[in-house]
Amino acid sequence: MTPDLASLSQDQLKALESDLSNQYDTLKQEGLSLDLTRGKPSTEQLDLSNALDGLLGGDYQSRDGVDVRNYGGLDGLTECRELGAELLGMPVEQVLAGGSSSLTLMHQAMSIAYHDGLSGPGSAWHLDKNAKCLCPVPGYDRHFAICEHLGIEMIPVPMTDAGPDMDAVEKALEQDPSIKALWCVPRFSNPTGIVYSDETVRRIAHLGRIAGEHFRVFWDNAYSVHALNDQAPALANVFDACREAGTEDSVLQFASTSKITFAGSGVAFLGASDKNLQHIKASLSALTIGPDKVNQLRHARFFAQDGSLKAHMKQHAALLKPRFDTVLKHLNDAFGDNDLGQWNAVEGGYFISFNTRPGLAKETVRLALGAGVKLTPAGATYPYGKDPEDANIRIAPSVPSVSEVDDAMRVFTLCVTLASVRQALQ
Ligand code: PLP
Repeated sequence: MTPDLASLSQDQLKALESDLSNQYDTLKQEGLSLDLTRGKPSTEQLDLSNALDGLLGGDYQSRDGVDVRNYGGLDGLTECRELGAELLGMPVEQVLAGGSSSLTLMHQAMSIAYHDGLSGPGSAWHLDKNAKCLCPVPGYDRHFAICEHLGIEMIPVPMTDAGPDMDAVEKALEQDPSIKALWCVPRFSNPTGIVYSDETVRRIAHLGRIAGEHFRVFWDNAYSVHALNDQAPALANVFDACREAGTEDSVLQFASTSKITFAGSGVAFLGASDKNLQHIKASLSALTIGPDKVNQLRHARFFAQDGSLKAHMKQHAALLKPRFDTVLKHLNDAFGDNDLGQWNAVEGGYFISFNTRPGLAKETVRLALGAGVKLTPAGATYPYGKDPEDANIRIAPSVPSVSEVDDAMRVFTLCVTLASVRQALQ
């Protein structure tokens, strides 16, 4: 436990700094080499899906009689689209099963919206020289990279405990018709772990009524079934809300099996209105003759039994939860009774988002690296890598073992405390 820094005299602060510096030097000598950077499944998690290998056993016929080894089928295999429909909570007719990466599909969908338009040539975003995208912060760095790559200006909007600050989102859209998109990770958001409230989902579905007709919500439902416990909050179905609001064209939904089966060889899904799908497929058909249906078929067969997806995700949770619990225990022990840090007790996904006191994220990351613990670069959770408060750090504990997470968090909490005490001394 760290005493309340504001109550300490300068001499007491100096003594504390010296004690913490000694602890830091001792930790450095442990020669740790730990990595809490990217949210990847661990080897044990990947092992849960090893039965995919060889599963087809020479039977390459899909249910519809398609030889999956051959070209064709831009929409993907029906039985695999059914898996996507389960993940996305949408009718199978509205789901496309693509390649291995939802991020690729998001990039393609945003590029199509930008260059070609999602409702004909006049709707292309590039026709508006000031095309912009709303980015809830902290958020996912690779979403920001897509916007940056396309030259779409990013406008940060704050996250709240219920999702993006919807007053800010609605106000921005009312004031600026050049805003064409909003990024969302609605369940176990990357990195805050927040699940959007029903009210937030309802308001997002209404945005299509406030914004121009070319506006799209990029609903990246990457963690739709990735709960750590059975009590984790559910997410309202955005397309049900859109149907009620008459705004089905305003949302594009994405998911993948990257963190269900194999992160590098899963299947990605896009769910969208008929009109959006039609335009996206017209552009995709210039790009590919069809996706990897062999992989799609083995995924469909792997999850063919009712309830198998749920049971599989419970096995992931059993591996992930002790790692998350370890992070949360360290944070509670170190900062539960002081104001040196803030975080959310997440119930799913892959990340824990931690805020230091303003101005200390970069220094904490630097100190941790010095003691052998690699963290995601400070600022990565903000557009253009610029966290105006220099406070947010994303912790990704899935890959190291529980005892490695324990070691890494010992270093992390010490570095936050040391950086805070040094700042208080200035
Ligand atoms: N979306 C979010 C929010 C993520 O956190 C990640 C990976 O960390 C991805 C998408 C990547 O998905 P995929 O592997 O399907 O490209």
